[in-house]
Amino acid sequence: MQGSNRSDVRSSPRVTIIGGGVHGVHLAIRLLDANVVEHEDLRIVEPDGLLGGFRRKCRQCGVETLRSPFVHHVARDPFSLRDFARGRGRDDELHPSRVGGDRPTTDLFFDHAAWVVDRYDLDSSIVEGRATGIREQRTGVAVETTTGRIESDWCLLATGYGGATSLPEWAGTLPEDAPVTHVWDPSFDREVIGETEHVGIVGGGITAAQLAVTIARPSRTVTLFARSPFRVESLEAGTEWMHFSSVVEELHDLPPASQERQQRVEQARNDGAIPPYAFDRLRETLQGDGISLERSEITVANEAGGTVVVTCEDGTAVCLDRMICSTGFGNPYSASLFRSFRETSLASGYRGAPVLDDETLCWRCEDGSPSRVLVSGAATEQVLGPFARNVIGARRAGDLIVDHLTAQKEAMVPA
Ligand SMILES: Cc1cc2nc3c(=O)[nH]c(=O)nc-3n(C[C@H](O)[C@H](O)[C@H](O)COP(=O)(O)OP(=O)(O)OC[C@H]3O[C@@H](n4cnc5c(N)ncnc54)[C@H](O)[C@@H]3O)c2cc1C
Repeated sequence: MQGSNRSDVRSSPRVTIIGGGVHGVHLAIRLLDANVVEHEDLRIVEPDGLLGGFRRKCRQCGVETLRSPFVHHVARDPFSLRDFARGRGRDDELHPSRVGGDRPTTDLFFDHAAWVVDRYDLDSSIVEGRATGIREQRTGVAVETTTGRIESDWCLLATGYGGATSLPEWAGTLPEDAPVTHVWDPSFDREVIGETEHVGIVGGGITAAQLAVTIARPSRTVTLFARSPFRVESLEAGTEWMHFSSVVEELHDLPPASQERQQRVEQARNDGAIPPYAFDRLRETLQGDGISLERSEITVANEAGGTVVVTCEDGTAVCLDRMICSTGFGNPYSASLFRSFRETSLASGYRGAPVLDDETLCWRCEDGSPSRVLVSGAATEQVLGPFARNVIGARRAGDLIVDHLTAQKEAMVPA
């Protein structure tokens, strides 16, 4: 058993956070700042190093600046990143934005995050491994991981999409060794793309646009398969959703974990939209012959001698050395960890969405009672709205979870 071996006489709870991305790191900091948990009672289960998954994704698609403003980062003080930049003469890494505050470069964002992680000594809380299941016990939660079991009083789930990606149907018909990958596949490395390859990219959103301009070279042929017209929006949803009072009005009257709530969130999200700064770069590259655009939808794909031949609805056929699908994330509740919860008493609804308490983000049991599992990130969309997965969503989840665990700690009576 990992975790602290303290006696039953405890005045502070043991907390295990599953996932050390933006949400997991931010929650850890918030709990420590609020004295909800002692450092030695905190565990973060993460296989890729803190923020490793997010860093890898930014590298995979060539993102050089964040989309969100400088006040959105992992620390608690909104101005921490700006002060970090100023103190190191890195103000020029804050890029002007048409809406909201300046946007940091990814280097600045991750350097600041590493500095914050260091200040809180969070690396010493990491349990290097993957959580495979949770079992609720009478007075706590047992988290099963690939490196052993952790007994805790509370478990915070911050696994993002848990590796779930969305692939076009035709990709599923290809043999495993076909040169087709998803941009978020952990093994995808854009640095290995050959200088003279003909590369196809499927998708018309921000990731496809960033990837296309990043890999475009005079020697390479890059074809962007974008079936719908480009949509340009600065943010993932209207700014009113950033003020969480709108969320309460729009969502909380609908049944929890329901199709209605899911649809309302989906309607609010500008999924597949490209922010203006990224669209300007795409347009320039398209005008300069760096990328060719194919508007028709791919219907069939075949592997042929190490290449992939795709045929589109309009009859166009293209032979590619490599195809990269930038077709987004999948259903976060289809990740294997979420699937394992189906054998527990935790209640789920539409497409496996967790039934969460709107005030606390506490996952409810099938009998309606609150469990000792709290959730943050993409899986809280039905409670926090379209920005739940973003950095600002972590801040809101942090408010609710800290309030809940503070109240629970105050009620804790040492045995
Ligand atoms: C390229 C890109 C750019 C983005 N830019 C912005 C932006 O500018 N502003 C913004 O607000 N948002 C942005 N986002 C959205 C962004 O995903 C979130 O802000 C943030 O990464 C979400 O954090 P997270 O911790 O929920 O998920 P993730 O960053 O995905 O972290 C989840 C972590 O959980 C771990 N994990 C998963 N399953 C398990 C398991 N079973 N056991 C243990 N650990 C597990 C993973 O290894 C991972 O480290 C961007 C997303 C992408 C892909």
